Amino acid sequence: MKVLIVEDNPINMKLTSELIKIAGYEALQAADANTAIAIAREVLPSLILMDIQLPGMDGITALKLLKGDEKTRHIKIIALTAFAMKGDREQFIAAGCDGYVSKPIRYKELFETVESVLMESKGEHERLRAGG
Ligand code: MN
Repeated sequence: MKVLIVEDNPINMKLTSELIKIAGYEALQAADANTAIAIAREVLPSLILMDIQLPGMDGITALKLLKGDEKTRHIKIIALTAFAMKGDREQFIAAGCDGYVSKPIRYKELFETVESVLMESKGEHERLRAGG
């Protein structure tokens, strides 16, 4: 299963990629939103971990573009943010993201959120197949 990590900080990228690989997924990398959108359209990963603070296009804008595009809207997206401000979560959910993990990334929280979002995705596919 492919997980696209969008992160401009090389240290955070390395750490997050290692954690995703330890969890048993294939880690794809993008350091900015435009690259991420191009990879997402091409590869159609199961999940995107999207840093919110990015140079150029920010993560919320990228999230809205991906969720507004028929081709990529089914891809689950988890927002990664250093902001621990109250109300952020609501903002990300309103923008269409499926989950939220705050930085610094902790393995347990990341793994649990990834599992729960992918489980939700599996449930949706099964309901679609069952016609309900
Ligand atoms: Mn960043």
